[in-house]
Amino acid sequence: MKKWGIFLCLVIGLGFAIPKILPLIQKKVDIQSLPQTGYQFEEMDIPHEQIYQGNLVLVNSEYPVYQEQTNSDIAHLSKNNHLVMGFGLLDDSIQLSESVTGKFSRMVDAAKKEGVQHFMINSGYRGFEEQETLYKEMGADYALPAGYSEHNLGLALDVGSTQGKMENASEGKWLEKNAWKYGFILRYPKDKTAVTGIQYEPWHIRYVGLPHSAVMYEKNFVMEEYLDYLKSEKNLSVQYKGKKYQISYFPVSENSTIQVPIHQKYSLSGNNMDGVIVTVYPD
Ligand SMILES: [Zn+2]
Repeated sequence: MKKWGIFLCLVIGLGFAIPKILPLIQKKVDIQSLPQTGYQFEEMDIPHEQIYQGNLVLVNSEYPVYQEQTNSDIAHLSKNNHLVMGFGLLDDSIQLSESVTGKFSRMVDAAKKEGVQHFMINSGYRGFEEQETLYKEMGADYALPAGYSEHNLGLALDVGSTQGKMENASEGKWLEKNAWKYGFILRYPKDKTAVTGIQYEPWHIRYVGLPHSAVMYEKNFVMEEYLDYLKSEKNLSVQYKGKKYQISYFPVSENSTIQVPIHQKYSLSGNNMDGVIVTVYPD
């Protein structure tokens, strides 16, 4: 009887524990330094300009935006109501990459399911001229000179809450905890001002895409640190939610070749410094 009692306790105990453990296992981001494997690859020539394009380009005081509007899908959000779902806009002038807006929508939709729903976009894409005006009017403490702001890429946005300051609002707290799951990062965290050179901005998020945002979250890296890490590791294998991604860094000079998979979906992005990152996606 005693043995049965213990067995029963174990079964009941596990029954309570498993639902709590399972999401933890699923959430885990497993990062390993491994060469590319499992797929067939081919050599591809890439132009030097590829360094300056893509979701992973670094923009800071050292590495400005190479060219105005490298993202071709910048849209006026107030003129495209179908893009504005689940969040408000500070004013009618806000522009942003259409695909990034779609990803932002899906993210706020997930937040809404957890009862967090008072998001608004306060700023999105800014052209060089607009950035220069902002810099002159507001000063260096508030804005960066034209070409030195991530807003000039169309991949960054300032998110607000209608309920108060982002550092206190549940919208800000939710983003800090969950944005990485949707490919976004908090670009200027409180504990990294020495690395970014920018004050804590709980409202400024930047799209980099998965699995990069997951690796950055797991390792507590900002973009500067992450891109250095990729450069030193060269190849990473990332397992997230049961899916395996491969990331490779290739240095690029005038005429360079990189390795891309033949049959697998992949994306290319420059780092805005000296190389290109190939991300191979799972099926
Ligand atoms: Zn910003």
